[in-house]
Amino acid sequence: MKTLREYIKEASEMGVAVGHFNVSNMEALHGIYNAAKKLSVESEREIPIIIGVSEGEEEFFGINEISAVVKAIREKDNYPIFLNADHHYGFESVKNAIDALFDAAIIDEVKLPLDENIALTKKCVDYATDINQKESRDILIEAEIGFIGQSSKLLESIPEGVSEATMTKPEEAKYFVEQTGVDLLAPSVGNIHGMIKGGNPRLDIERIREIKEASGVPLVLHGGSGIADADFTEAIKAGISVVHINTEIRVAYKKGIEEALKEEPNEIAPYKYLKKAVEEVENVVYNRLKLFNHLS
Ligand SMILES: [Zn+2]
Repeated sequence: MKTLREYIKEASEMGVAVGHFNVSNMEALHGIYNAAKKLSVESEREIPIIIGVSEGEEEFFGINEISAVVKAIREKDNYPIFLNADHHYGFESVKNAIDALFDAAIIDEVKLPLDENIALTKKCVDYATDINQKESRDILIEAEIGFIGQSSKLLESIPEGVSEATMTKPEEAKYFVEQTGVDLLAPSVGNIHGMIKGGNPRLDIERIREIKEASGVPLVLHGGSGIADADFTEAIKAGISVVHINTEIRVAYKKGIEEALKEEPNEIAPYKYLKKAVEEVENVVYNRLKLFNHLS
């Protein structure tokens, strides 16, 4: 099977994006995988997916457990499903994920001054490079520059600290990639973590194009939940190769459980009342994957 690096490169050449979906438990993972498989069959195309876990999600699922499950699916079905350590803080946290056989990791030190963010990102890149050579793996390291907020929640307004001034500048992106050797870059281009109730802001498409050209690495769009369909299409054309969705999955999951328990308040079998949550997650992910792969 091709590596995640090769799938992302292929996506970028095809002008599509790889979907990155967060989970905290097995049910959401089932929903995401069902959606990807369904679309692969329907479109007769291989639809690679990335499963993401933040530090909190990873702790809840179990770092070795999530790693084993993703690996089991990949090997049993020969399906391109990969695992990413989403927003890990500090070298140790990234190292733990790499050591637990994750395919990729995001070192998030965007709140540090640029030179410290560079030093820490470089340390993670060096560690991954060393392991790649020793163990014949192909781990990817991603970093962020430009602040986009931190929580995957439903929000009333744009998170504090996010403004046009905190958006990523193309020359800054170029310098950061040169200094760190990072594989993937997550810029701030009008995207925010979480979903704003009245609708998310529009993306700065021209900025994406400029950052992509200046940095020369595949770009990752964080905070995909709540972004308008047309903006996704344009952003992918302009150079986004991976899109992160988390909040929408959380909303769908909760809605599924609420509906199931409303219909059958006395149901106590988790595999019965959680079924609807799996289906709701599957619907969200199916539609997002269609859009990211220009199949809708
Ligand atoms: Zn993110």
